[in-house]
Amino acid sequence: MSFASEIREEICKADINEVCCARAELVGMVCFGASAKSNEIKIRTENVTVAERFCKLINFLYKIDLKISSTESGIYFVQMLGDDVIRIIRDMRLGGVPVHIDKEIIRNECCKSAILRGMFLGGGSMIDPLKGYHLEFVTSRFSVEKDLKPVFEFFDLYPKTIIRNGTNVYYIKESQQIENILAAIGAHNKMMDFLNVTIERDIRNKANRRANFEYANVIKVSETALKQQLAIKKIVLEHGWQSMAPELADVAKIRINDSTISLAGIAEKVGVSKSCVNHRMRKILELADMDR
Ligand SMILES: [Zn+2]
Repeated sequence: MSFASEIREEICKADINEVCCARAELVGMVCFGASAKSNEIKIRTENVTVAERFCKLINFLYKIDLKISSTESGIYFVQMLGDDVIRIIRDMRLGGVPVHIDKEIIRNECCKSAILRGMFLGGGSMIDPLKGYHLEFVTSRFSVEKDLKPVFEFFDLYPKTIIRNGTNVYYIKESQQIENILAAIGAHNKMMDFLNVTIERDIRNKANRRANFEYANVIKVSETALKQQLAIKKIVLEHGWQSMAPELADVAKIRINDSTISLAGIAEKVGVSKSCVNHRMRKILELADMDR
């Protein structure tokens, strides 16, 4: 099952207790996933859980029993016809043209969560966070964008929008905001899964940054060491070991045998300070005329 389907499964388990929240959730679902005309409301979904949730909400609010039908390709439909439709659309305050979400529907804090849950069930999806951070809500109703602003802002959400195939897509790529949505719609288990991914990725990124930093340092160190080895070879070839002062020869012999040892390592072996070794190495480079 996909990450998004698991979210849907989880949030569909939420109890339906309050009329205000049931209505807000239904409004979200209809605005983002159903067609609603004066004589028909129809929801079409690939998730039977979503179809069942729609029926439960309608039943809780209006005491109407709806049937789910399905196609062989795994699409589920719930259709409502007749006089009930007008009553329900009026109750959801969705009668206007173009459609708007009434302020009253989303006045309560509980209902702001509920409408977001309905929006996700109707037109939401999310990529598996292992592949990237992306959560979106899709609707063909452009007119509700302004109405939803207070809902998004309430949960510190600042989705970007893009038009795709004639629909308005609200999308979020920022991990903190995705976390906020999952918490708001009540997908607490999936939020924990998401958090685990973000934390692991964060640790990995930090480890990578550190590894890169260390690698760069190793290269820098080895370049310097190679240059020192060259200088020593040049002096020894041209003038012999005896041309070098004993204190320089001490560090030169260690360097010539070991290109990886650090200045601090040489200092320890010789029994002098690191800055002293550094000074002697500069002297060696000068002698070899390689200090430039
Ligand atoms: Zn409520």
